[in-house]
Amino acid sequence: MHRTRSAKIVATLGPSSSTKERLAEMFTAGADVFRLNFSHGSHADHRERFQIIRDLEKERGRPIGIMADLQGPKLRVGRFANGKATLVPGAPFRLDLDKTIGDSRRASLPHPEIFAALSPGMDLLLDDGKFRLRVMACHSLSVDTEVVIGGDLSDYKGVNVPTAVLDLSPLTDKDRRDLSYALDLGTDWVALSFVQRPEDVAEVRKLIGGRAGVLVKLEKPSAIERLDAIVELADAVMVARGDLGVELAPEDVPGIQKRIIRLCRETGKPVVVATQMLESMIRSPTPTRAEASDVATAVYDGADAVMLSAETAAGSYPVEAVAMMDRIISRVERDPLYRRILEAEPLRLEATAADAITMAARQCAKTVLATTIVTFTSTGSTTFRAARERPEVPILSLTPSVSTARRLAMVWGVHPVETEDLNSFGDMVSKGVEIAKREGFAEPGDRLVITAGVPFGTPGATNILRIAWAD
Ligand code: PGA
Ligand code: MN
Repeated sequence: MHRTRSAKIVATLGPSSSTKERLAEMFTAGADVFRLNFSHGSHADHRERFQIIRDLEKERGRPIGIMADLQGPKLRVGRFANGKATLVPGAPFRLDLDKTIGDSRRASLPHPEIFAALSPGMDLLLDDGKFRLRVMACHSLSVDTEVVIGGDLSDYKGVNVPTAVLDLSPLTDKDRRDLSYALDLGTDWVALSFVQRPEDVAEVRKLIGGRAGVLVKLEKPSAIERLDAIVELADAVMVARGDLGVELAPEDVPGIQKRIIRLCRETGKPVVVATQMLESMIRSPTPTRAEASDVATAVYDGADAVMLSAETAAGSYPVEAVAMMDRIISRVERDPLYRRILEAEPLRLEATAADAITMAARQCAKTVLATTIVTFTSTGSTTFRAARERPEVPILSLTPSVSTARRLAMVWGVHPVETEDLNSFGDMVSKGVEIAKREGFAEPGDRLVITAGVPFGTPGATNILRIAWAD
């Protein structure tokens, strides 16, 4: 079987989506990649879900992507007596390193790095921006603030410091443990949270050493300021609008989303748009029309994938949410306006054989009315470039590496298939045709455009384009 849409769906797993039956239904409904969220759940939970996905993959004969999302350096206040404290607007409130239980005048903030980065006049946001504290005076072990927006603050709520770059390691001790666990399981993508600078990405890249793709979550204004350098070091990107939207004003987010998608399209990095996409489907079987429009907008903008978070992890309608995304994407992709928007701004080509060939492949497919572009790839790099072209026909990506096939499950327009390496020209054509027919992309008489690299089996050497007829 193959899907009939190009943009992909990432579904987050959680209590609402942990049985074999449920995951199978979600896959059938359209989930292409499953996200394990290491901010919640135990290693045993993640291992169990991981195994279910790999079993499902075997059963369905389709590569399925798995993304391990690390919590990252998220700051939190400590506990309060009775679980909460009332913060009164205009009143003083102190944050300090003291581990004792907090009250309406102070709370523990066990992150020494933060005190060094604060200065009077800065604002701290608590509990996803519901509370606002203004910094009045800074000391080495504490900070005095005034409550601007108050209310009942409960234990362990998150703290955001939008304007500061904090001297935090991109991975906490927990992240390091989670990362090595996820790599041992064999995750396809690792998602990094709260990246602040390009150096953060470089450091973690080294640690991962190619064992998984590195997806950078853009959720800090400081990362947006150095967007180009960060995207350059990433294998994929997420517009993480949940935390980004806490640190920025609502009106700032849509333009930044478009800017990030545009940059990723230009550089050929897969981009995922995430958070609150079908939020009301946590409790309702249908979305609001504004939510439908939000998903559609991400697809019109050319995103590779759209993501579901609480909708599938903790909501009452996980399968319906996936099916709804599938319907919205399919409808957008049938709109003639979609093509016109995708092609409105031409992309610059790199002076490489891969770009010359993939660009020509797209043009050839159009001219000879081919049903499919077939790419042979080992690392996936040629397929990433082919997807960047956003061709009119599907990209059938054939690779000897199962991990490449799984990573490609997140990429726009790509139908990945694991197959043995090529050893001759004849082999290239016969395999391309045979798999295209088997997977439902060609019937006898159909034309295919095939790209590969000679010598066969050498990564990154795409240099052949062949037009073939299915027999
Ligand atoms: P999260 O990341 O769900 O891990 O917080 C996504 C976001 O912040 O939008
Ligand atoms: Mn986040």
